[in-house]
Amino acid sequence: DMSHISTLSSRSGSLKDTHSYVGFANFPNQVFRRAVKNGFEFTLMVVGQSGLGKSTFINSLFSAEINDPSPRPEKSLSPTTQIEEKTVRLIENGVILNLTLVDCPGFGDAIDNNKCWEPIVEYVECKYLEYFSEETKIERSSTIPDRRVHLCLYFIAPTGHGLKQLDVEFMKRLHERVNIIPVIAKADTMTAEELARFKAQVTKELAENNIRLYKFPELDDEDEKKQFDPLRERVPFAVVGSNQVKEINNRRVRYREYPWGVVEVENLKHNDFIALRDLIIRTYLIDMITVTRSVHYENFRYRQMSKGPKSSVDRDPFTQLEHERQVKENELEAKKAEMEKIFSEKVLEREKKLSARQAEIDEVEAKNRRVLQEKRNVLEQLMGEVVELRRTGAISRQESRSSGSRMGE
Ligand code: GDP
Repeated sequence: DMSHISTLSSRSGSLKDTHSYVGFANFPNQVFRRAVKNGFEFTLMVVGQSGLGKSTFINSLFSAEINDPSPRPEKSLSPTTQIEEKTVRLIENGVILNLTLVDCPGFGDAIDNNKCWEPIVEYVECKYLEYFSEETKIERSSTIPDRRVHLCLYFIAPTGHGLKQLDVEFMKRLHERVNIIPVIAKADTMTAEELARFKAQVTKELAENNIRLYKFPELDDEDEKKQFDPLRERVPFAVVGSNQVKEINNRRVRYREYPWGVVEVENLKHNDFIALRDLIIRTYLIDMITVTRSVHYENFRYRQMSKGPKSSVDRDPFTQLEHERQVKENELEAKKAEMEKIFSEKVLEREKKLSARQAEIDEVEAKNRRVLQEKRNVLEQLMGEVVELRRTGAISRQESRSSGSRMGE
């Protein structure tokens, strides 16, 4: 099979080409074929104490150097859980898989690991909340980017003594929020017998602690059943990872070499790597997306909505929506008030101008009236004098008529 994979690392920005085969494009399910038409999004989280081979496993899983296997300095420096995201785009037979890998370095590395799962719970919840906010926005986009965690691979140390308290605590806190598949790390460090006993012990303890893991649903197709049922029986998966690759008979083989022999990663006789890969990448990928959406995300929505706006510390989207509305209303109110203020100021100004003009007019009128009155007074006085003079006979009617010309005599 010469399918082609390009790996685009968002962090380094480099395009990596490998001529190997992951298998997500050959998914046997029709639903998958529809889903992959436009490419799809999958977020895989790996959790476990450092040194368990998580980075090596991821590289083995996607047949590419996605994760830097060299120990990162911050890994040993930070005793608290960090969250590291990396998005890679895998293209296989024209099918695009936008894969987000979430690593949690520092998890379980401190002396006191009490609450070291909290950043992980927060991360998972945060991704749900982001999706929820997008979904409840007034103007939502047609496609909401899906950053929800679809699968958490939890790495169990190959101690031979069963689960640690930390393992139980972590899974208990996350099993209702995310699909969990436990993985026994470094299977090559145990003999077949030890491994069988360890698997039984882990299975027993998971049940005793009521831990609900992701359940691979029954397959309908008879051929698929025949192919995948034997793989499902290998739960809990014990894996081997390696960054060492060599060509054997034109076949690229990942292996670990020991003085007593070679362990091949992709060999079902040696470990469960192929079983896990085929089930999560080739068979149940879409189911895990569906379960995330219809079970875990719905649970989140339920928790979110039953929270009530008053009791919630951080704002849930409904409160946020109400808040946005209130802000808009307040803005409108403020604008209205400002307009009213400007309007009334303008009116006042106009009124002032008008009343000043009125006062001017009034003054002129009053002055005119005064002048008129004075004139009237003078006239009345003159008239009075004329009447008096006529009465005393000092002037005749004739004279009075032409008094102007004779008065000086
Ligand atoms: P992480 O800290 O969990 O990411 O672990 P790494 O992938 O960095 O691996 C830590 C060390 O374990 C490296 O030296 C790897 O070569 C080694 N390692 C990884 N996978 C396996 C495995 O399956 N078996 C054995 N024996 N060693 C492994």
